[in-house]
Amino acid sequence: MKPLLIVVSAPSGAGKTTLCDRLLLDYPEITYSVSCTTREPRGEEEDGVDYYFLTAAEFARRAAARDFLEHAQVHGFHYGTLKDPVYEAFAEGQSVLMDIDVAGAAQVREHVAGLPPDDPMRRGFVDIFIMPPSMEALEARLHGRGEDDEAVIATRLRNAAQEMACANAFRYRVVNDDLAVAYKELRAIVDTAGEDNRG
Ligand code: 5GP
Repeated sequence: MKPLLIVVSAPSGAGKTTLCDRLLLDYPEITYSVSCTTREPRGEEEDGVDYYFLTAAEFARRAAARDFLEHAQVHGFHYGTLKDPVYEAFAEGQSVLMDIDVAGAAQVREHVAGLPPDDPMRRGFVDIFIMPPSMEALEARLHGRGEDDEAVIATRLRNAAQEMACANAFRYRVVNDDLAVAYKELRAIVDTAGEDNRG
């Protein structure tokens, strides 16, 4: 497989985490890009595994130092992908999976479009938007998982509508109605993108 820079975005509740986790399990050659965030760890989350948990000041320092490939504010907190680990993974021939929001995805898309056509990162760039079958289905899922109260669900739904409006900017869209079907589609996208058909 040629090295891929896989960017996956989705509204919360679309099943992105489950799909990405499966992909990482099935493709050991894909490295998960651990993001930086200024939000607090939740539950079992570990620093350096799920995120690098930074203070707002440290995040601002790294942003000023241009350490981020992209960064954005999501739900009131800062999130960003460090450049170095992505470049290091690429240098080792590894693929990278970035689970980031639509604003971050737009920045990576722009960055990649500015690279020479033969740059491995440009050649390996794949952006995928995971979508719920409908807003009603998303609402039902957010209620069903019982993690959030009504106010949080209302905010997530408002954000979801905004994120869905960006779906067309992605080269690939996967509708997650049936998880098994969606995963098969995701794998097919990755397998096709990973084929080195340069001759
Ligand atoms: P959570 O706080 O629930 O883990 O993530 C909230 C949102 O932030 C998700 O949509 C996730 O994709 C996005 N996110 C996580 N890491 C990054 C990042 O490094 N950059 C950007 N732009 N978004 C991120």
